[in-house]
Amino acid sequence: MEPYDIIDWFENLSENAGKVQTQTLRRILELNHGVQYLQKWLRDINIQEMDACSLESLFTSMVPLASHADFEPYIQRIADGDTGPLLTQQPMATLSLSSGTTEGRQKYVPFTRHSAQTTLQILRLAAAYRSRVYPIRDGGRILELIYSSKQFKTKGGLAVGTATTHYYASEEFKIRQEITNSFTCSPEEVISSGDYKQSTYCHLLLGLFFSKEVEFITSTFAYSIVQAFCAFEENWEEICNDLREGNLSPRINLPKMRKAVLKIISPDPCLASKIEGFCEELQNRNWASLIPKLWPNAKYVCSILTGSMQPYLKKLRHYAGELPLVSADYGSTESWIGVNVDPSLPPEKVTFAVIPSFSYFEFIPLCRQKQGRFSPIDDLAEDEPIPLSQVKVGQEYEIVLTTFTGLYRYRLGDVVEVAGFHKGTPKLNFICRRKLILTVNIDKNTEKDLQLVVERGSQLLSEAGTELVDFTSHANVANQPGNYVIYWEIKGEVEERVLGECCSEMDAAFVDHGYVVSRRTNSIGPLELCIVERGTFRKILDYFIANGAAMSQFKTPRCTGNQVLLKILNMCTIKRFQSTAYA
Ligand code: AMP
Repeated sequence: MEPYDIIDWFENLSENAGKVQTQTLRRILELNHGVQYLQKWLRDINIQEMDACSLESLFTSMVPLASHADFEPYIQRIADGDTGPLLTQQPMATLSLSSGTTEGRQKYVPFTRHSAQTTLQILRLAAAYRSRVYPIRDGGRILELIYSSKQFKTKGGLAVGTATTHYYASEEFKIRQEITNSFTCSPEEVISSGDYKQSTYCHLLLGLFFSKEVEFITSTFAYSIVQAFCAFEENWEEICNDLREGNLSPRINLPKMRKAVLKIISPDPCLASKIEGFCEELQNRNWASLIPKLWPNAKYVCSILTGSMQPYLKKLRHYAGELPLVSADYGSTESWIGVNVDPSLPPEKVTFAVIPSFSYFEFIPLCRQKQGRFSPIDDLAEDEPIPLSQVKVGQEYEIVLTTFTGLYRYRLGDVVEVAGFHKGTPKLNFICRRKLILTVNIDKNTEKDLQLVVERGSQLLSEAGTELVDFTSHANVANQPGNYVIYWEIKGEVEERVLGECCSEMDAAFVDHGYVVSRRTNSIGPLELCIVERGTFRKILDYFIANGAAMSQFKTPRCTGNQVLLKILNMCTIKRFQSTAYA
């Protein structure tokens, strides 16, 4: 399919989104009718004889909403080698690990050929929309800061890895390069080395070696780009040496990766001197506009920039200078959800048009006023789930998925808002994960609430010329009264007085009624701000990677109760402040 054909394909689907959804559900049920999970609810109903609409109402009335825990016993049996039709008729050969950095624990999620195919499809579709606004040269290169995690086998012999790992290893990833006629700078050995520091070094080296040909820079989540350029600030001299000599620093000690990279690069003293000159100049302006300076033909930077990636936007903008930042699409290990059809919109305004043939989507209306069924998770009231064709602009929903990979009415836990429609398919604004992260007693704060508070507090930092590198938090209930602890890693010098003000500013910025009341009555103690030494968040990343997380899907946990993490954070704390906001 040519780029514009794939757009036609999607525009057609969008126009008939409601109908496509009904048919998609029918296809899923025809494929997987009779599997043990569904048998429990649908028994022996003969679905072949039902029309698609009746099937849709039957399905949503008979099969209950479910969470990952409901599928876990089935997935475990699959992992242990049960090849019977538990969730899907076709036996599963692979399982994915969700990143687990938002939930604190990695989860197995079914992965089939369909998952890799839809990944290829959405990437091609998004590339087609991007090329309308930012055309790129055919045959050019992409500096892709991507990483596979280690794969392993379950007791039953199924391959387990993150969804991105499976994708990079799939046929679809290889053919994507051919179809889009754009080629990743790094060979497979760099993507899958398993050591993200060494891979980052080689990605950057190769990206610079091919710098003239690089058309855009990308990663799954924005975090990886920021961490790569932070590493570049430290290693650029070594990288330039390697470029000059066509050699590789001894820090790259994985034989396969060394061999693959050395096969590609050759000495280029002229390029090395030029880049060295640029870097000396860039260093003097704190690396502002590093990307366009070093990659003069790059048209844009593309990555997930929304949700928990928002805190990295500022730094990414600093590196990207005038280059547009394009938001990558919206999906999860469970299923792809929406594509960015307006690539020129800034990340703050981006929406994702739901692809109605990828999964069957339902939407649980969420209300901030207290009406409808009250949810035990947070203070949002829930209404009955509705199909895609009935969603309303301006309303917030939690997404529910029924997938080709064996998940039925699965609550994803993401909150989205319908921002408008693309033809007949909703365009979603990503709001946040549903899960509460900070709660001591009657207070309820989500990741989004924390993000807003930290933004407020860090404004004072920026005014003082200091940068917030990363942050996390902890609801401390070990002592009475409990309190919130926020950990900051900062870059640059700042007076203690300013940090004290940041701390009180954040305490006062939590607007949740439960928090405000508890603070006033001192049933929640003053907020504490802990400044950790430089490199602490890299230690946290290393801890997650060592425990099987993948760099490509890593998201800094914004709140933690994990004892190992807390130990790292507390050992690295160099200054502590206590809020005087409610004193
Ligand atoms: P994973 O654990 O890697 O499957 O992460 C999937 C989760 O990442 C989703 O459920 C969302 O919470 C988040 N996510 C994925 N894509 C986006 C996006 N474009 N914007 C904001 N959050 C996203």
